[in-house]
Amino acid sequence: MTEPIFKRIVLKLSGEALAGDKGHGIDIDTVNRISEEIKSLRDLGVEVAIVVGGGNFWRGRLAIDMDRTTSDYMGMLGTVINALALQDALENIGVITRVQTAIEMRQIAEPYIRRRAIRHLEKGRVVIFAAGSGNPYFSTDTTAALRAAEIEAEVILLAKKGVDGVYDSDPYINTSAKKFDKLRYIDILNMGLGIMDSTATSLCMDNSIPLIVFGIDKPNNIVDVVLGKKIGTHVKEE
Ligand code: UDP
Repeated sequence: MTEPIFKRIVLKLSGEALAGDKGHGIDIDTVNRISEEIKSLRDLGVEVAIVVGGGNFWRGRLAIDMDRTTSDYMGMLGTVINALALQDALENIGVITRVQTAIEMRQIAEPYIRRRAIRHLEKGRVVIFAAGSGNPYFSTDTTAALRAAEIEAEVILLAKKGVDGVYDSDPYINTSAKKFDKLRYIDILNMGLGIMDSTATSLCMDNSIPLIVFGIDKPNNIVDVVLGKKIGTHVKEE
């Protein structure tokens, strides 16, 4: 298994994944380690688009006594901080990147333009999508599904911190929780599995976008998934 099984991927990195063991903010060692893995994907010739989360800074829905829309915009801004940290780490090791934001901020990034994003990918640049979808009441998981559909990615790699796939119940609470190797989107919805919000799940299901949920904590997992090793939980429409 030395050949990648995907040509174009969307890698969804949650904010937590970039926070390392601190659980909040950015852990530079973790960002550097993930960047090395992304570089390996590029060296294999894989076109890599990344959607970054922002939960290590702010989650809109958790705000109390605050306008939800304002709170969600704060969350989206958090994703931009993460995107810039990731861009910096990647460029430090020679990976050419472009950050595109769903909310225009021309001084620091390009605006999201689908055709331009695809062109960057074709030229071997890593494209980092920031500011979510640009809309409140959505998540960056939904953004990953949306961007994957738009740029015709073959798969979404959902890299999770602290868990290595989808379980039938919380493995931290229930020691006999069962991990799924394979699942259908409809099962996630029917069983109410909390791996992604229902909007993101439905978008993937309706557009037949395969998803692989796996743990980011184990070094080289991102590369191993792309090389076709049986890691995590594979989710498909049927
Ligand atoms: N967010 C939003 N619209 C989007 C994407 C994100 O309003 O299209 C906001 C929302 O408040 C969310 C926060 O940004 O809680 C951070 O994103 P998310 O929770 O998806 O980050 P992750 O859990 O992946 O770190």
